[in-house]
Amino acid sequence: MNKIKNKQNRNKIIQSFKSYISPELKPEVELVQQMIREFWQDMLGKKFDAEKKERLEIIFKQTDIFFESEDCDYKGKALNLHNEIYINDNVKKDIMLEIEVLIHEYGHCLSDANLYNSIYNNNLLLEEGTQNLLCEMVINHYLEKHGEVKLNGRKIPYQYPVVVDNSYEFNDGWQKTILYAMRKYGKDIEVFAEFEIGDKHKYAQMVFDDDLIKKYYNSHLLILSIGNGINVEEIYKRFKDVFQNIDKNSIYYRRN
Ligand SMILES: [Zn+2]
Repeated sequence: MNKIKNKQNRNKIIQSFKSYISPELKPEVELVQQMIREFWQDMLGKKFDAEKKERLEIIFKQTDIFFESEDCDYKGKALNLHNEIYINDNVKKDIMLEIEVLIHEYGHCLSDANLYNSIYNNNLLLEEGTQNLLCEMVINHYLEKHGEVKLNGRKIPYQYPVVVDNSYEFNDGWQKTILYAMRKYGKDIEVFAEFEIGDKHKYAQMVFDDDLIKKYYNSHLLILSIGNGINVEEIYKRFKDVFQNIDKNSIYYRRN
């Protein structure tokens, strides 16, 4: 794909991708794709550039989605390098959970799509929390905009604001904390977009200063160490002004 520069030719190729979607999930998948598209479109406006749009369409067009036997030990799993998402059969019973898992797993595929173009390999601590945040923000945005989420003409009984409950509780805090700080500079959505559908190198440059990056960039693992590297104290020091006066109404504060 990288060699094909002509936009029309690229579009033709992307449109020709065929993914397998479990037939039972087709309406849910279409809805979730639309919700994610609208979220970035509305949040980023003009900054939702051709490259970012294309990232979405490539992932949507080439990711296969399967159901997995309910014996498996996860609700959903993204094998992003194989363009595959697996959803636990159990999840079928709960339409709200189904939507949440689909957004979360698509989020992994989007976030990891430029893994090889970035010097920053993905960081697990940041990654899981980011996808839960994406899930929360996409659903809440859709509810704010449309007043409800409907599937096959039936209203999905979401209670606004939706808070995603899951097993990654502690990890959830990293990205929310960072974006909370960035919001004070009006950069939260841009920074979030660079992490999720843009360039992780740009993300790191926008959030941390060069000294911090140099200090915690592990050239062996190609990873910016967060958690045991850039820890809570470093983040607090970096954004001290912002954290001295916590705004409890912030969308990033909820349960953080
Ligand atoms: Zn995950």
